[in-house]
Amino acid sequence: MSFLVEDKNYAFLSNLGIEKQNLGVYHTKWTGSGKTIKSICPANGKPIAEVVTGTLDDYETAVKATQAAWQIWADLPAPKRGEIVRQIGNALRDHKTDLGKLVSLEMGKILPEGEGEVQEYIDICDYAVGLSRMFEGKVIPSERPGHALLEMWNPLGAIGIITAFNFPVAVYGWNNALALVCGDTMVWKSAGTTPLTSIAVTKILSKVFEANNLPGSVCSLVCGDSTVGEAMAKDDRLRLISFTGSTNVGRRVALNVQERFGRSILELGGNNAIIVCENADLNMVVQSALFSCVGTAGQRCTSTRRIICHEKVYDQVLSSLKKAYSQVRIGDPLEPQTLCGPLHTENAINEYLSAIEEAKKLGGVIECGGKRINRDGYYVEPTIVTNLPHNSPIVHKETFAPIVYLLKCKSVDEAIQINNEVDQGLSSSMFTTNLGDVFKWLGPKGSDCGIVNVNIPTSGAEIGGAFGGEKHTGGGRESGSDSWKQYMRRSTCTINYSKELPLAQGIKFE
Ligand code: NAD
Repeated sequence: MSFLVEDKNYAFLSNLGIEKQNLGVYHTKWTGSGKTIKSICPANGKPIAEVVTGTLDDYETAVKATQAAWQIWADLPAPKRGEIVRQIGNALRDHKTDLGKLVSLEMGKILPEGEGEVQEYIDICDYAVGLSRMFEGKVIPSERPGHALLEMWNPLGAIGIITAFNFPVAVYGWNNALALVCGDTMVWKSAGTTPLTSIAVTKILSKVFEANNLPGSVCSLVCGDSTVGEAMAKDDRLRLISFTGSTNVGRRVALNVQERFGRSILELGGNNAIIVCENADLNMVVQSALFSCVGTAGQRCTSTRRIICHEKVYDQVLSSLKKAYSQVRIGDPLEPQTLCGPLHTENAINEYLSAIEEAKKLGGVIECGGKRINRDGYYVEPTIVTNLPHNSPIVHKETFAPIVYLLKCKSVDEAIQINNEVDQGLSSSMFTTNLGDVFKWLGPKGSDCGIVNVNIPTSGAEIGGAFGGEKHTGGGRESGSDSWKQYMRRSTCTINYSKELPLAQGIKFE
């Protein structure tokens, strides 16, 4: 097996069906007639393999195949659909190491995080299998004699899933496993820079469908650019678009979907803060902040971008954090000792450098980091910035890189106000040992984010809860709790089993 650049690390790719050149569209078969793109390894800037992307015609064929597959898929009882998802979970278990490695190679996150993403998909499969025997409607008391009032949940049909580069497996997994047990079929458009991962995932899924004599187009894939994403958002045949990505693109997707009265799940950008109260356990703060500021090289939607620190502990937190940052091992994400890998693209480096420049212009002090690392690939130094007002434009912007702004506050109330003053509303954490602070933080005047943590970092959510954020983060919820409802339509059904025709509200129409 040969790849675009020979590398001893690439041999495992053949276990996932990845070749030197790959077709990037799958419905009932693998195809693709669009332009050929190269997947680049962020760790060295070199191409791994080529992918022939899909055109709008390829997309059209994929949607039709996905709609046709629904006719078969929707007839399977939900627990039988759950059985297929159980098999998908097992197939992912078999490929966890290789798929995790591919995530690491193509996206750039360290290997434990790459494997962690696959584990997240496995976990949500297990969850969905249980759900397939549990999701339930209601029987509601009817005010009319001889009448039954029921709530029925049915699949939506074909849906669209558009994903971001930074979680090339898990985000699809969250949507895919739930949508499958709910009875939907789906077209997936993955991020333009992580096509190999989506091809490998789809190969794993298609084998499960084929082994069960089901059409693989239940889960179709189109590797394509924004024109395919735009077509999906405007396509009335896709009743739901689940979109994960930046707020700017998400706004456009939301408008296109709304224009046709479609339904959307929007999982957009965050600007997540950790609040450090004066009574916080500072060892826990530093360990947690290190993981959520530097982990994934600051490229999680839930990465910590602001630390709002009580003035009494500010100096201590700053010096401990600087010490911890100086010990972070930056390097090849596939090497076991690495804690921080590269950024995903050259463009991400430019965003990082321009944020540092802007911070400096506004009077920010670079306490550590602030530079590109001089080696192949897209490496930067994790950075701490102080001395900026909490409402500086750059502090309010999501820069998708390992930059954190350390801000000072005088009270818990002020800290919460600073937490809430940004447009985004994804994740938030408070470190405190005071019970009153905890309940203030969780209550109506507390954090306005979708994820509200205490004494843990802003990143690293479990699949059992609903995941998503408020305000410019889009309001979507995925994964656990009652997120499944979004992949189904609800019918309120009134059945008259009497020989009378009483009207509601006692209205007489005789
Ligand atoms: P992006 O917005 O650039 O791209 C996301 C997806 O949208 C890609 O597949 C892209 O090809 C597609 N796209 C681009 N233009 C489109 C259009 N006009 N219509 C439809 N689709 C289009 O985001 P990215 O750089 O891949 O990811 C980083 C962003 O994603 C960050 O803002 C991050 O916070 C966010 N994110 C959010 C969550 C969450 O759960 N809230 C999770 C992961 C990432």
